[in-house]
Parts: sequence; structure tokens; C-alpha cells
Amino acid sequence: MVRSVPPRWLLGLVLLTCLPETAPAAAPAKRPNIVVIFSDDHAYQAISAYGDPRKLLDTPNIDRLATGGVRFDRCLVPNSICGPSRATLLTGKYSHANGFYNNTNSTFDGSQPTFPKLLRTAGYQTAVVGKWHLVSDPTGFDHWHILPGQGQYYNPPMIRDGQKVRHDGYTTDLITDFSLEWLKARDKSRPFLLMCQHKAPHREWEPAPRHLGHDKDRTYPEPDTLFDDYTGRGVAEKTQDMTIAKTMTPKDLKLTPPPALSPEQRKPWDAYYDPRNKAFQAAKLGGKDLVRWKYNRYMHDYLGCVKAVDEGVGRMLDYLDREGLAETTIVVYASDQGFYLGEHGWFDKRWIFEESIRTPLLVRWPGVAKAGAVAGDLVSLLDLAPTFLEAAGLPVPADVHGKSLAPVLTGRTPADWRKSFYYHYYEYPGPHSVRRHYGVVTDRYKLVHFYGPGVDYWELFDRKTDPRELTSVYEKPEYAAARKELTAELARLRTDLKVPDPDPPETITGPKKGPAKP
Ligand code: CA
Repeated sequence: MVRSVPPRWLLGLVLLTCLPETAPAAAPAKRPNIVVIFSDDHAYQAISAYGDPRKLLDTPNIDRLATGGVRFDRCLVPNSICGPSRATLLTGKYSHANGFYNNTNSTFDGSQPTFPKLLRTAGYQTAVVGKWHLVSDPTGFDHWHILPGQGQYYNPPMIRDGQKVRHDGYTTDLITDFSLEWLKARDKSRPFLLMCQHKAPHREWEPAPRHLGHDKDRTYPEPDTLFDDYTGRGVAEKTQDMTIAKTMTPKDLKLTPPPALSPEQRKPWDAYYDPRNKAFQAAKLGGKDLVRWKYNRYMHDYLGCVKAVDEGVGRMLDYLDREGLAETTIVVYASDQGFYLGEHGWFDKRWIFEESIRTPLLVRWPGVAKAGAVAGDLVSLLDLAPTFLEAAGLPVPADVHGKSLAPVLTGRTPADWRKSFYYHYYEYPGPHSVRRHYGVVTDRYKLVHFYGPGVDYWELFDRKTDPRELTSVYEKPEYAAARKELTAELARLRTDLKVPDPDPPETITGPKKGPAKP
């Protein structure tokens, strides 16, 4: 179904914002500008507005969006990994519908409809700056200036409208600089879409020189599952390769410096890390003490990267304020998925489990989003494309899986809003060895099927009694009714969403197709 009739909230917005006393009655609806600040692997636990009990750091600028807009507490991703999430953001569709299943060999088909393309056709100026990670060149943008592949934290090679360029500086700062440059040079008579997409705080978590030592050698509170032994769960959880204890490399741990540093950047780097690394080597830590040291080093580095992202958000919001654009611009902050900050002994993502599937989402939309509100509804990155299309007064294509968040933002979630969510992870064999799995998530439960070579089992988690998802209750008789209901719901979702069964050949992981990595 194509929704062509403007909903009541939109008419209200038009009346509120576009028909000042002097405007002629026939004035066209003023379409909001859209700024999407999309970071990479930013855990909600590392945003102060989300109130993590560890109080890991302050993010005063990102928090401005929570104060001025809506904080979503259950924004779920359909496939918790970088490229697939980016494809979902652009299309509003699951991986099996947009064709981008994994980071290993998928290439985004840029000929398919995306929301930037539709906005551009409707007269928006469009730009994407920063991490892209979809292999093919961006389509639907007047301007693009992207990192090749994962990009690097220092002195990044980039591709600007098809031309290879190289910049000096810290990548997070540069992405904000280039985003603001584009905004300043825009055609002020037309609305704009800017996608400012940070590489940070993706592995290997390399902070800016000014943020080295930001935590004053703090000892971070540990998550109570730092030494999880995966009892109560199956072989997938026990055989992954993403633990702080065993998987982190010397580069992750800054025992070796990143090769991209210039001699000038290397000085503060060595001044910070060298004495600490020497003390670490001398201490000859082992067992849990070694894991604790790694955890604290990881937190310093990861959170240092987040600090630069937060400052970039502040610069963007300040610009919108100074230019008088704040009232007419939707600002979204989100990450491509969640991330583990030591919970279950892990870093990385990929799982249906909470720290991975749940991504931060903050939406400021003056006149629509209720300032300071918190929404617990099951929403998704799937929902952003239809939200932006609706904001621009455009129809949402019938095959888009997401739904506009506009009614949720106003605080009036429709009675028929989704009560269950389908999840599917495909990248196995692959980095971190997380098995393929799919499942259904509700407010309370998760039912999940792990499958693939040598693996075929089900798990059920009751987040009400087991919020850390430590013990599967799939076999427990008292959960038989819940299991039956969720099994039926999962089957319904797979049918409705037309999930291919078995997995199609495109999901086979292997060498990446498409242009070679620059
Ligand atoms: Ca990511």
C-alpha cells in the first residue's frame, strides 16, 4: 500500500510551522531538513543520556538530542553488523530484500530505491560524508565524500565524488569539518539531507591526541558478566571468537601503534602509551588480572573515540543553532548497531542479544517529537527511511519493511505498532565466528535458532527474569506456552517478510566481489 494521504500529524506540523500570519493560504508545505549522524559501533551504554549504571562517560552534546527530542530505548537492528545496517538505513528493508547480507562478500546494488534518492528526486540537496562501507559507489547523493572500506582514524584516504583524495588530521574531526563545509555551501532555497557518518568508535578504537588520558587512568566498573563462562547457553556462545580475554590483538590494545600516525601525531601517542605499556609488561599479569587490564585499556580507547564523536555532534548542533536551522531540521543520532563493552566478556556485536541488537537512537524534530520523552516501543533502523520520506511529504514504497516513527515521536504510538521483531544474522563463516541465527524478539522474550554446519539448536530467553540473557529456558516445561506462541510468531514473520529458506547462495561468505579496496 502506498500511503499518499498526509497523516494528521503532518498536517498539524504544516499548520504549525509553515503558515505564519503573513503567509498566503496556499503557501507550500515547508519540508524539514534532515541531518543523520550515524556512528559505527557506538554502544548505548556509552551515551550518558542512556544512563548506564557504570557511568562510563559524559556525552553532553549527544544528550542535547535526548533533551530536545525522543530517546528510543528499544531500537533494534535487523542484522547486527556494519554494512547490512547501512543498507537497511538507506532502504528501510531487511538484508534479504536489499541484498546486502554480510561484510564479507556483499556489494550494495545502488540501482535500488533508497530514501536519499527519493528525497533528491523531490528536490532535496543530498550529501553523505564519512563511512560508507557498501562497496559500490554511493547513489542518490549530490555530493559524497567517503572513507574506502573501514577507513582509518588518522590521515585518512577518502573518495570525494569519485576522486581519490587524502587528508591530514583525525578522521572524526574531518568528517564533521567536511559535513559543515557542505552545509555552508548549500543552496539555501532548498531543503537538505546530510548523512554525517562516523567511522568512530569502530575497532581499533584510536582516540584523537587531545583525548589520550581523558579518563585520568580511571579504573572502570566491570560489567557483572565480564567473566561469563556461557553456562546455560549453547555451542554458538561457547565457540565465538570475540572475547576481551582471547581475541584482542596487540593493535587493539595499543601495544603496537597505528601505522598511519604522522611523526607529530606519534609524539603524544607515545607519551601516553609508552610508560603505561612498560608498566604493563613489567607487571606480567595473568588470568583475571590480565583481562581486567585489557578491559580498562579498551574502555579508555573506545570512550576516547566517543568523546570526539560527541564533540562533532556539538559542532553540528551549534551550527544549526547559529544558522537558525534548529527548528526546521530533523536531527537523528544513531549507530549501525550496538556493541559489547565487556558484557559477557565480549567486544564486537553480531548477536540477537541485547547489547548487540539494540542500537542508540535519538530523534530531535521540533514540532513533532516530544522533547525529553523516552519511547520503549519496538522500533528499528528499518523505520528511519519511511520516517524521512513521510517528513518530506513523499509516499513510502509498498515494499519498505519499516514504518514511519512520526506517530511514536508525538507520543501517540498506534495500537497496531509492532509487538514482535524479526532478526537474522548471516555472516558465518566469518570474523569472530558467530554462528548464523535468526529469531523473534518481543518486549519480554527472545526465541532464537542457531543453525549451519554442525549447529542446530533453539534457545529461549525471558528478559523479565533473566535480563542478562544467561540461561535458555527453551526446554523448561513452564515456558511451553510461550515457546509455542513465539514459534508461531516467528513462522508468521518469516512468511510475511518472505525470508528465503534455505539461505540463498548470496549469503555464502568468501572473497568480496566488486572493486578492489583502494
Ligand atoms: Ca558497525
